[in-house]
Amino acid sequence: MSKQSLNTKIVHNKIDQSEATNSKATPIYQTSAFTFKDLDHLESYYEGNVPYLYTRENNPNTNELGQAVANLEEAPAGVASSSGISAIMAGILSVVEAGDHIVAAEDLYGGTHQLIAKQLASFGIEHSIVDFSNEKAIKEAIRTNTKLLYTESITNPFLRVEDLEKLVSIAKQYNLKTMVDNTFATPYLLQPFKKGVDLVAHSATKYIGGHSDVTSGIVVGHRDLITIANQKVIGLGTNLSPFEAWLTQRGLKTLGLRIKQQSYNAHYVAEKLMNNEWIKKVYYPQYVSERGNGAIVTIELDHNINIDTFFKSLDWIKIAPTLAGVETTASYPISTSHRALTDSERKQIGINDSVIRLSIGIEEASDIVEQLVTAINAAK
Ligand SMILES: *Cc1c(COP(=O)(O)O)cnc(C)c1O
Repeated sequence: MSKQSLNTKIVHNKIDQSEATNSKATPIYQTSAFTFKDLDHLESYYEGNVPYLYTRENNPNTNELGQAVANLEEAPAGVASSSGISAIMAGILSVVEAGDHIVAAEDLYGGTHQLIAKQLASFGIEHSIVDFSNEKAIKEAIRTNTKLLYTESITNPFLRVEDLEKLVSIAKQYNLKTMVDNTFATPYLLQPFKKGVDLVAHSATKYIGGHSDVTSGIVVGHRDLITIANQKVIGLGTNLSPFEAWLTQRGLKTLGLRIKQQSYNAHYVAEKLMNNEWIKKVYYPQYVSERGNGAIVTIELDHNINIDTFFKSLDWIKIAPTLAGVETTASYPISTSHRALTDSERKQIGINDSVIRLSIGIEEASDIVEQLVTAINAAK
């Protein structure tokens, strides 16, 4: 096989070889288990010669999805699970156990912050949350029991682009593992594993699936770590259903086209909004990749803008506590993704009641700007 570029690999993600039918698309293996013709056949599963036994452990659709995303990240192995959060949990638990310590970035997705600060803490896993743009702060937080540095390649909602080379070099110096949530960037824009990151997680609910019709997650990385992550998914029962894996895989095929258009639109929207006198600040990253800078634009409205009226006037731009669909949506971090944070935690990262996160879709870019400006004008 000749070497495939990313756009080709994204589309040719079919691994399943259902030779019985030669189906073009992978069938949905909507089954809880697999059958065996005799005891020798059953035994051969445990010898590694038959691939499937029981869907919580192993299923063609979930395997295909995990492997497809691993291929795009150029990592040797991947495992799909029931949500982004469960994929992140499986990844973290492949490195740390009770008594170990994680150093995590302060501007993480709210649910991940909760996972680390509450859920994993209740299992005896310790953590420090620090400003990852400050190298000294990271190093000062490292203890003798620290095992993992955890961050996001593009953070939420202010879109800070993590310096992954720097992070990997700190980790090497202290003999730590690194894990990066690559949800906002997707492998189309960034491939952290290629930069030396050990584990890369995705909320496939977002761009990988891309159509707001599925909740799923994936973690990819070194084979030894993914083997443990897979045991966590099986043992904690956070496996993904075959149908949801199939839907995610179907969405994945258009990742390249979608991100290209959404990045183009986001850039257009960010530029237009920068010139609007009722917008205090526009956050949109630069230089994420030569393929684009992603599709999230965060704005801070002038404090004279009535937020309720603004949201009510958005019309076809729906309020949605998610991102990454093909439709443009608006979210209000203070009451959704960052609701669980304390006032001082929110203040620390700069979230106030004028901050709005826009997830830009594939509509005509000028229509998106027009609708946003209409809502601003109605609310001033
Ligand atoms: C949505 C999201 C998650 C959580 O994913 P779920 O699929 O909702 O579990 C984690 N990280 C980031 C950056 C997200 O946007």
